Amino acid sequence: MALIRTQVAIIGGGMIGLALANALALRGRDVCVLERGEAKQITTKPTLRVSALNRAAQNWLTELGAWQLIPAGRQGTYTGMQVWDENQGARIGFSAEESDLSHIGTIIENAVVEGALWQRAEQLNVQLVTQAVVKSFSEHEHDVTLELENGDTVLAQLVVAADGGRSQMRQELGLPTSFKDYGQHGLVATIKTTEAHNYIARQAFLSTGPLALLPLAHPHEISIVWSAPPNKVAELLALSATDFEQQLTVASDVCLGPLTLASERQAFPLRMQYAEQWLQGRFVLAGDAAHTIHPLAGQGANLGLGDAWYLAEQLNGLGTLQGQWNNDQLQRALRHYERARKTAAVRHIAAMEGFHQLFLIQNPIIKAVRALGLNTTNRARAVKRFFINQANQF
Ligand SMILES: Cc1cc2nc3c(=O)[nH]c(=O)nc-3n(C[C@H](O)[C@H](O)[C@H](O)COP(=O)(O)OP(=O)(O)OC[C@H]3O[C@@H](n4cnc5c(N)ncnc54)[C@H](O)[C@@H]3O)c2cc1C
Repeated sequence: MALIRTQVAIIGGGMIGLALANALALRGRDVCVLERGEAKQITTKPTLRVSALNRAAQNWLTELGAWQLIPAGRQGTYTGMQVWDENQGARIGFSAEESDLSHIGTIIENAVVEGALWQRAEQLNVQLVTQAVVKSFSEHEHDVTLELENGDTVLAQLVVAADGGRSQMRQELGLPTSFKDYGQHGLVATIKTTEAHNYIARQAFLSTGPLALLPLAHPHEISIVWSAPPNKVAELLALSATDFEQQLTVASDVCLGPLTLASERQAFPLRMQYAEQWLQGRFVLAGDAAHTIHPLAGQGANLGLGDAWYLAEQLNGLGTLQGQWNNDQLQRALRHYERARKTAAVRHIAAMEGFHQLFLIQNPIIKAVRALGLNTTNRARAVKRFFINQANQF
C-alpha cells in the first residue's frame, strides 16, 4: 500500500491525459497518471481505432517531444480531401497546396499516439500507475485524497478527470451533462485498396450517414468509419467478408477500386455528450470526459488535445509557494480554462450539428437544398474553409 504525493493527479492515460501529463512534467510539475488498464505501447500489430490529428495537434505533440517517437510508417499524412454526396452527385475536393499548407493532417492509430506519449511520460518521470481505479475520494482545504482499489492512496492538489466519455469521476462528482444520441453507430475497419489512395482523405455522404475513407501510411491501406443507423451497422457486421467488401466498394463509389478487408470490424455508438459543468473544487474535466462529438469531421481528439494544451498553459503560468498553489489563483486559472474550452467545445458541437442536419436529414426539400448548396461555389468554399481552419487550430 503506497502513498503517492503529487501536484496533479490525472485519471485516465488516454491521449488527452498523457499529453497533459507531459506538458506539465516538461515544466517541472509533479504529475501522476492513474490508468485503469495496462501501460500503453506502440505494438507492431496495427490497431483499429484511428484519429485524424490536425497540424495544431502535431505541432504541440512535437513540442512535447512525443511526435518524434511515432514511427513514420504509422503516419498517414494527407494532403487533400474529397467530399461527395451519394444522391446528388455533388462533389468537392481541395488540397493543402492551394491553401499554402504542406499537409492537412495525419491519420494515426490512437494506440500509437498513446504509446508515444506514454514513452515520453516515462522519460519525463511522470508517475505512471497502471490498473489504478479510484475507489473513494475526499477533498480538503489544500488537497484531495484518492483511495485506489488496490489500497494505494494518492494525495494531489488538483485532480483532472481525463477518463473518457463514460468518465466515472464525472459521474461520481454528479456533474450534469447534456446528451444527444445521433441514432447512429460507427463501424471501423482497416481496408486494402486496389488503387493507391494518394494520401487523400475521402468522405461520402450516403443516405444512411457518412462513410470516411482515411489514408494510412501504406499507399494501399485505409481506415474506414462507416456511420449508419444501428440496424444497418448490425447488418454490415453480420455480412460475410466478401459481401461486406462488395457493399463497401459500391458505397465508396469505387473511388479506390475493389476494396478488401484487412482487419476485423468493430462498431461504436455515436453520441454527443457535453458536461455543463467542468469544474468542482479541485476536480476538473478534460477531453472526452467533458465532451464527445460526432466523428464525421474527425475532431474529437483534436478538441481534447486543445483542452490539455490550454489547461497546461494555465497551470504552468501559476507560481507556487513551497510547491503549493495559491487556492484563489488556482481557481481563477481553472475558471479561465473552463470558460475558454467550453466555448471551443460548443463551437465544434454546433458545427457537427450543422453538418449532421445538412447531410443526414431525409426531408426531400432539405435534400434538394442540400444538393444545390453543395454544388454552389459558396458552399464548397464554406466546407473547405471549415476543414482548412480546423487543420490549424484545436
Ligand atoms: C468511431 C470514432 C472515430 C473517431 N475519429 C476521430 C478522428 O478522426 N479524429 C479525432 O480527432 N477524433 C476522433 N474520434 C474521437 C477520439 O477518438 C476521442 O475524442 C479521443 O480518443 C478521446 O481521448 P480521451 O483521452 O479523452 O479519452 P479515451 O481515449 O477514452 O481515454 C480514456 C483513458 O482513461 C482510461 N480510463 C477510463 N476509465 C478510467 C477509470 N475509471 N480510472 C482510470 N482510468 C480510466 C481508459 O483506459 C483510457 O486509457 C473518434 C471517435 C470515434 C468513436
